[in-house]
Amino acid sequence: MENLRQHLDAIRDAVGPKGVAEAADEIEPFITETRGLWRGRCELVVSPASTGETARVVAICAEAGLPIVAMGGNTGLVGGGVPDGGIVLSTHRMNRIRDIDPVDNTMTVEAGCILADLQKAAADADRLFPLSLGAEGSCRIGGNLSTNAGGTQVLRYGNTRDLVLGIEAVLPDGRVYDDLTRLRKDNTGYDLKHLFIGAEGTLGVITAAVLKLYPRPRRVETALVGAASPEAVLALFTRASTAMGNMVTGFEYANAFAMQTVFDHGHGTSNPLEGTYPAYAIIEVSNLADDDTARDALEGVLAEALEDEVIVDAVVAQSEAQAAAIWGLREAIPETQKFEGASIKHDVSVPVSRVAEFVRTASSKVEAEMEGLRTCAFGHMGDGNIHFNLSQPIGMDEAEFLDQWSRFKVIVHDLVAEMDGSFSAEHGVGQLKLDDLAKYKPAVALDLMRTVKHALDPKGIMNPGKVLPG
Ligand SMILES: Cc1cc2nc3c(=O)[nH]c(=O)nc-3n(C[C@H](O)[C@H](O)[C@H](O)COP(=O)(O)OP(=O)(O)OC[C@H]3O[C@@H](n4cnc5c(N)ncnc54)[C@H](O)[C@@H]3O)c2cc1C
Repeated sequence: MENLRQHLDAIRDAVGPKGVAEAADEIEPFITETRGLWRGRCELVVSPASTGETARVVAICAEAGLPIVAMGGNTGLVGGGVPDGGIVLSTHRMNRIRDIDPVDNTMTVEAGCILADLQKAAADADRLFPLSLGAEGSCRIGGNLSTNAGGTQVLRYGNTRDLVLGIEAVLPDGRVYDDLTRLRKDNTGYDLKHLFIGAEGTLGVITAAVLKLYPRPRRVETALVGAASPEAVLALFTRASTAMGNMVTGFEYANAFAMQTVFDHGHGTSNPLEGTYPAYAIIEVSNLADDDTARDALEGVLAEALEDEVIVDAVVAQSEAQAAAIWGLREAIPETQKFEGASIKHDVSVPVSRVAEFVRTASSKVEAEMEGLRTCAFGHMGDGNIHFNLSQPIGMDEAEFLDQWSRFKVIVHDLVAEMDGSFSAEHGVGQLKLDDLAKYKPAVALDLMRTVKHALDPKGIMNPGKVLPG
């Protein structure tokens, strides 16, 4: 006990009074998952202002064997940032953009930068930082890196992992791994940055990164499409990517129930199509040239698909406001689904070619299990990633429905495994999916993960109890 007190004092000294929170009300937001699904505990919330301070804090924790949970914006959806003792290390004071280089097309940033601020800084330099997701106003780039976040632009630009050239991280023993390289080519052994990306804070604390920037598209065209089935939406995707290649920057799907929740409960939302349909797509097409190439191409694909009866209805946004309204429909789904009561969620991926088959088969399997169950399927169809949510039957007790979570999870995740898919497409493992990792990850892969964890963090202080099943 005396030892713990001394170590906590040493941490306080390392970061100064501005870098420590310990009153119960100050700590509360850092130990509570924002939806209230998990609540943890910690001794201190520590907010270092620099990589050097972070290294000192981690070294003290290493000596004390004190667990560290790194935290960005606390928007993670799998309980990865919920501490069970030790300290929470919040990155919010490390929020400087160290450098933007429009020739290298790079941006060197600290882990605590909010994603939307990085998008804006890139735009101000006439560049694009393409990572884009619903939580972009509050998630932080260190969290995005640690979860290898996906979002709406993966189709064209890849996951967060694909947007990184270099990383700076504090290792579990307090040493700094400094690889803030801007090189586009460097074949000098293992590419170690990828160990930290997607590790959910189990291998070290990411303190900074060099991110890739892209030219800013001058024209972005957006369409909402109504179709008869997920198969039809997939057929449209194939036509769009064949005709327009990587001009297609986003391709989202929603089933009838998902979109209806937005029409019924969305704030200020309306349906710009002529009717309602069993399936919807949102297509975004971007082009560097400030001319009508993107619009003409999109309208051409849609016109042909309508003529061939692949789709039933389509509307192309005539202004930025209309485009934002179309994306607003998609982004509102997670919120508007809440108006339909409790929901059981899955974040899965299958090969793109099988995504319609997945939606159809999974929907009929779960709907056969419980009368009145409503499937809310939506997501990044162009990446094969579907958020396959289940809304409770109308009138059913919420707790009784949520008690069935494991039963439905097995049905959905077994099907995903049969289809060569993943039980966690973009949200990570955290503590929510530990059982799934143990069940579906091949034994050799699990063994390698444990070997890496033990090599970097032999004392097991970095985010214990997350990602790796015990
Ligand atoms: C409305 C909404 C929409 C979302 N949409 C998407 C989406 O489209 N795609 C998607 O992929 N995700 C999405 N998410 C999930 C979430 O926003 C992402 O996982 C995001 O990347 C988490 O960032 P964060 O800063 O909030 O991380 P946190 O929640 O703070 O942390 C997440 C994990 O990373 C670790 N961590 C955080 N910072 C560091 C660091 N500096 N070093 C080491 N480890 C660290 C934490 O310990 C934890 O395990 C969404 C969430 C919400 C609420």
